[in-house]
Amino acid sequence: MNRLAGWLGWTLFLVIGVPAAVLTGLTFLLAVFEPNPLEINGEAYTQKMAPYVRAASAIPAGELVARVVLIGDAGDPAEENVDTLSELDAWTRAAPDRTVTLFLGDNVYSVGFEPEDLSRGGAILGAQLNAAHGPAYVIPGNHDWGHTDGMHLERILGQQAFVDAAPDATYLPRDGCPGPEVTALLPEADLPRPILMVAVGTTWLLEPMSRPDCARVHYEVMQALEDTLLNTGDAWVIVAGHHPIVTAGPHGGFERGVIRPAFQALYGAQGTLGKPVYELVMEDLGRALAANRPLVYAAGHEHSLQLYRDGARAEYLIVSGAGAAGHVNTVTTLPNTLFAHAHPGFVSLDFERMPSGTVSVIARVVESGLGEVYATRLAGEEGNSSATAAPGR
Ligand SMILES: [Zn+2]
Repeated sequence: MNRLAGWLGWTLFLVIGVPAAVLTGLTFLLAVFEPNPLEINGEAYTQKMAPYVRAASAIPAGELVARVVLIGDAGDPAEENVDTLSELDAWTRAAPDRTVTLFLGDNVYSVGFEPEDLSRGGAILGAQLNAAHGPAYVIPGNHDWGHTDGMHLERILGQQAFVDAAPDATYLPRDGCPGPEVTALLPEADLPRPILMVAVGTTWLLEPMSRPDCARVHYEVMQALEDTLLNTGDAWVIVAGHHPIVTAGPHGGFERGVIRPAFQALYGAQGTLGKPVYELVMEDLGRALAANRPLVYAAGHEHSLQLYRDGARAEYLIVSGAGAAGHVNTVTTLPNTLFAHAHPGFVSLDFERMPSGTVSVIARVVESGLGEVYATRLAGEEGNSSATAAPGR
């Protein structure tokens, strides 16, 4: 008996103990030497990179014809979030008749609109809608579905009902389905081309096992998106989803800290974006967008402000998920980064008539407590831009 116990002990030690010790040792070594899970164009992207702002070009303001504000992940109680919302209030109050605000999901942390506590959800979402002057569009994010609680259609429907009852607010896509749904933004605006928003429910796409049934299955959604984009004529198109196609923050595998980067190095994962489902869905989405590139693919989910010149899937990729001050996390740069900063705030797409009479589309980054910190022209004539210093923090 003793001999059997001894033999079992040694077997367990060899089968479990030794591999566990080796794994732990490797994890520790990888953590100490901070290996990099990503290398792009021969350049290493490590965790130690600071929040980053590339030198900004100040673009003199033309006459504002239309303004589309992109803000995501703002679903914290107002008292924790008052600075960002008051910045949004000031920015949209300037011209409410020419302004729309797109809330890019994660509108109510952390598990959405709970049926047993509707007043909490209403207070959090109501504070955001109150801060947005002019029409508002609200799209759902993973937290609105329930996040760690699972996928709960009733929470989406609860949020949708709340938004429907609010003045001048629209919930898209409808009924927890992925869309795509097309809406003309500010159709009365005196613009040479219309502005179209195409809303896509990316959380539905990413949860094949637990999403509700909708009229379309995955590939039909992608086909519909392609068809939609091919029928946008000469419009300025903004595709709005919750999940980014590209991000240089923790959801893309760029994370400070020790444990997760080490495991990513060991197992080849790159945070959320490295999950096979995420990768595949974003590849599909990118392929559909490429059929007729929109001006912007806008998303939240990552808690920073990032602008990329893309040219493959959209002309520009914008991540605006820094609506809640308490959630902001680090970000670095990628080869196509125009701007990246870990700071609460949002991005405003301003359609401005220049002195020559033509209209430019200018992306302006507006940060909590700092106002406008960066601007870049996305479309329209080149004007004089003079370099200014951006806040280096
Ligand atoms: Zn999210």
